[in-house]
Amino acid sequence: MSRVLIIGCGGVAQVAIRKCCQIPEVFSEICIASRTKEKCDKLKEALEGKTETKITTAQVDADDVSQVIDLIQDYQPDLVMNIALPYQDLTIMDACLACGVNYMDTANYEPEDTEDPQWRAIYEKRCKEKGFSAYFDYSWQWDYQDRFEKAGLTALLGCGFDPGVTQAYCAHAKKHHFDEIDTIDILDCNGGDHGYAFATNFNPEVNLREVSAPGSYMENGKWVEIPAMSIKREYNFDQVGQKDMYLLHHEEIESLQVNIPEAKRIRFFMTFGQSYLDHMRCLENVGMLRTDPVLFEGKEIVPIKFLKELLPDPASLGPRTHGKTNIGCIFTGRKDGQEKSYYIYNICDHQEAYKEVESQAISYTTGVPAMCGALMLLSGQWNQTGVHTVEEFDPDPFLDALDKYGLPRSENFSPVLVD
Ligand code: NDP
Repeated sequence: MSRVLIIGCGGVAQVAIRKCCQIPEVFSEICIASRTKEKCDKLKEALEGKTETKITTAQVDADDVSQVIDLIQDYQPDLVMNIALPYQDLTIMDACLACGVNYMDTANYEPEDTEDPQWRAIYEKRCKEKGFSAYFDYSWQWDYQDRFEKAGLTALLGCGFDPGVTQAYCAHAKKHHFDEIDTIDILDCNGGDHGYAFATNFNPEVNLREVSAPGSYMENGKWVEIPAMSIKREYNFDQVGQKDMYLLHHEEIESLQVNIPEAKRIRFFMTFGQSYLDHMRCLENVGMLRTDPVLFEGKEIVPIKFLKELLPDPASLGPRTHGKTNIGCIFTGRKDGQEKSYYIYNICDHQEAYKEVESQAISYTTGVPAMCGALMLLSGQWNQTGVHTVEEFDPDPFLDALDKYGLPRSENFSPVLVD
């Protein structure tokens, strides 16, 4: 029996909410709060009569700490699930600390305005010190470690699929399959087709920022940065087939390097079709991915925000997307003195996901782990205080929950390796 405040009601949050409502014995009461309350009310209406979970809704601007504090004080939740945008991570963490409540999210902090001089100064120092230039990194949220620990609270960071399940796969490999892990390759394949020439599968702004940034990977404890999309490999994915994939910077590499320090190389690859890449390059070349305001007919507009308005809403892709995703990790290393390799992954079917929760598989593969992470915290199975990423917790109950609630694991004990 618990009360959970869920902030955000977009593509990912809607899946997480629908999944919570499948387990009313744990999620007995939820409050869906977002910037646009109508979306919350619409979802509440769709779910009423189909679940025992008691649903309320609220309007909140989560950029404003005091509004989040008022809402938490009013609702008195056991947990706050931040499934809004990475821009709100710090304000919601501040509110959780002020109110003494546990926190979780699905993506690490990045600022909305990357031209803010105060943020930029810290960012540029970090680029030089660490050697990667993505706008997001864990330092902002790791900075809350002492405060959460002292308050006896837990902050679970990045509990979607990647980041999220991919780190649980790493913890599982470390616990059950290896004495020492040498290399980790995270492969994220979306074999789905939505029929549009160009659309993003989750929030376009966050997605395009991530994909258009330089790639990077960890080698012997150091970041190696490369121009965007400059390392390409082909891989034959189970139940999807042969796909081109590109090396990207991805947030879980940073925490995995800290928590599995013996790994000599950690890389992240994502598949992209040619049409997606051509469109993205063109949009970038003409300035449509810019995140700073430009003056247009006397009004300031941010090009990437304007673009978001033009692109299909990711939440609307569900009925039109066919095919499967295949996301997982390939490990090499040693067990009992023997060299070995191991691949653990999940396959998710876009149409099956749509039938169950009216959403495509990208939102499904993020929303289900968010619900399972909440389940771990609410049931006390994950109870370390402080600020933690998924690989720091026991992977067994989490992977069992994923098996049970829609994202079962597959394994391959002699996988083809990525060169
Ligand atoms: P959407 O854009 O579909 O939804 C975002 C939601 O947050 C909307 O309901 C939006 O409200 C709300 N929101 C935005 N700003 C505020 C604010 N200031 N106050 C309150 N609510 C706000 O995003 P997605 O559902 O696609 O993504 C959600 C999160 O999941 C993101 O952080 C994304 O990075 C992460 N993600 C993680 C993945 C993983 O595997 N770990 C994979 C995919 C996504 P409104 O309706 O008014 O716009």
